[in-house]
Amino acid sequence: MAALSISFQGAARTVTGSRHLLRFGDRSCLFDCGLYQGHRDEAERINRAFRFDPARLDAVVVSHAHLDHIGDLPALVARGYPGRIHATPATVSLASVLLPDSAALMERDVEQVNRRHPAQPRTPLYTLADVERTRPRFAPHAYHQTWELFPGVRATFADAGHILGSALTVFELERNGQRFRLGMSGDLGRPRRPILRDPEVPGGVDALVLESTYGDRLHPGAAETERALAEIVSRTLARGGRVLVPAFAVGRTQELVATLHALTLRGAIPETPIYVDSPLAREATAVYVHHPECFDAATAEAFTKCHGAPFGFARLRYVASPAESRALEHDRTPCIVVAASGMCEGGRILHHLRHGLGVAANTVLFIGFQAEGTLGRRLRDGAEAVNVLGEPTVRRAEVASLEGFSAHADQAELVGWVERLSPAPRRIFLVHGEPGPADALAARLRETVHAEVHVPAPGEEVALWN
Ligand code: ZN
Repeated sequence: MAALSISFQGAARTVTGSRHLLRFGDRSCLFDCGLYQGHRDEAERINRAFRFDPARLDAVVVSHAHLDHIGDLPALVARGYPGRIHATPATVSLASVLLPDSAALMERDVEQVNRRHPAQPRTPLYTLADVERTRPRFAPHAYHQTWELFPGVRATFADAGHILGSALTVFELERNGQRFRLGMSGDLGRPRRPILRDPEVPGGVDALVLESTYGDRLHPGAAETERALAEIVSRTLARGGRVLVPAFAVGRTQELVATLHALTLRGAIPETPIYVDSPLAREATAVYVHHPECFDAATAEAFTKCHGAPFGFARLRYVASPAESRALEHDRTPCIVVAASGMCEGGRILHHLRHGLGVAANTVLFIGFQAEGTLGRRLRDGAEAVNVLGEPTVRRAEVASLEGFSAHADQAELVGWVERLSPAPRRIFLVHGEPGPADALAARLRETVHAEVHVPAPGEEVALWN
């Protein structure tokens, strides 16, 4: 039996459903337990099936609170997982907001499907009751506080700079006087982003599992992104339109709001109301406010000096009730509306699009990744006729897209981060990327880091240390 092996059970050659099974001798640890997000039937099949017996799993470690990393935890617990879920304190707090929301969405979705097809009733993947059973399992560990995962196996989180509480994990094993270190990047953030600290560089690792979402691309710089954002907002407001921004409730929304606030203070955009129309974003922002230990120096200072800025200020309004949200949909006053979901696959953004997509003065602004097959991807790719909430809708609004808001490192940032690991890893496995980006990053890393780089296939198992 190998001292350490890994089986890539999710987010292999794709960006969703992160799930990797680590075996430390006869002990097993699942790293991330994410939801696979895609077409309903395929997602159902993948999210319900574990390629191992959850009842015999010994531990779970999760990297951060995005649902494609934690969203399947309640299903794991419902299927008999008996142990703890290790995460940073901010991840635990965000999970306690995101998992109930995820369960409620699933229950609502199944209800709607069953109403249309009563002959074959479906059951939700998990329920609020399963989430309640999952919550007490979380075991929080602060950054840099090493804990013993199993006898002879220690684990430490460091800041991944991706979203609040995001961690990269280093597992350290000892056997016969020898040591082996495995690094799991989780989703890796970017330097010089608002709110969060830059990704940390842990000491060297022997093997590294690295994300590759944007492995084939370079993001524009922060200054360029801010300039482009200011231009988009200014020209839309000048023609009397609204800027509609589909955004993930956690991370992207808070960063965008912080940036808009800064641009207004500098006079780069006109004073205008900013609405965050997402109850989830509002709850997530409350979690941010309770975890200042995760802020970078500038945010920490602004937060202490200016009563909670950049999360709340005069021109920012969190829309709470559905009635207020409906009033906002019908209103035509120029403003900025930020609403979930980020890929326009659900949530209040759909209602804003139904009313706003046909208005030529408006702009739909994409600031996040748009997966294939989503309404967001179709709009971003220039579609002029789409279905919104089942209604054929003609798009007259401008569509704009800013890649600089990505919370994922680009190719140069990924390579730069790996180069700073000392000593350099001998083996690198690229996950969490579609084949194009993963292969491009693999080629680049082989040139620069001289490591053995592999893009594992779904389900592939590799012995890391014998
Ligand atoms: Zn993420």
